[in-house]
Amino acid sequence: MARPAACLFDLDGLLLDTEPLHGQAWQQAARAFGLELDGTRLLELRGRRRMDCAEQVQQWLAEAALVVPTTAALLAVRQPIAERLLPAARPIPGAPELLARCQALGIPMALVTSSSRQAVAVKTAGHPWLAGISERVFGDDADLKAGKPAPDPFRLAARRLHLPAEHCWAFEDSLAGARSAMAAGCRVHVLLPDSQKLADRMVAALPAGCLLVKELGAIDLSTDD
Ligand SMILES: [Mg+2]
Repeated sequence: MARPAACLFDLDGLLLDTEPLHGQAWQQAARAFGLELDGTRLLELRGRRRMDCAEQVQQWLAEAALVVPTTAALLAVRQPIAERLLPAARPIPGAPELLARCQALGIPMALVTSSSRQAVAVKTAGHPWLAGISERVFGDDADLKAGKPAPDPFRLAARRLHLPAEHCWAFEDSLAGARSAMAAGCRVHVLLPDSQKLADRMVAALPAGCLLVKELGAIDLSTDD
């Protein structure tokens, strides 16, 4: 296979190591309402928009017969924790180099993230290497009907680049994101977690056809193997 027509990058957990921080923020917020979130549930929240995560946590609270706060009350606890933690996020190893390789090869890039425009601004402020990705689809994008795992975000990114999604390579680290990119028709690379236990759980739940990646440095942009 020839080079990708474009590379569509997820942000959280793929380019920036924010997922443990997002997880901590949700864990502490849920705990404030009496619910303990385990690793499996945190994995389910990954890659999804803030409002979709809030709805999921409210559902778990209801299932546990706990008092369910309004979305505003839940986020009022969660957001300050996240905003305190997220500016300290570091690049995922190999991410700046992968973007530099795309740029050197002239491959168009887009960011396809569930994070809001404002949250992306907070997270990326200390990371000028991300500025090279000018096309961006945010979780609160006005042109977006549904977030990941729906195919809409990747379809929108491909449309804005004037390319068929089938010719684009997507890079994801979450189940919701991989499902979204696969449903959009992209060629999907999934960065697996370091923990073997979590990686096994991911692989078992991923849609068929995803290409598994252990580190970003191993991605070959000129061939399909
Ligand atoms: Mg992600």
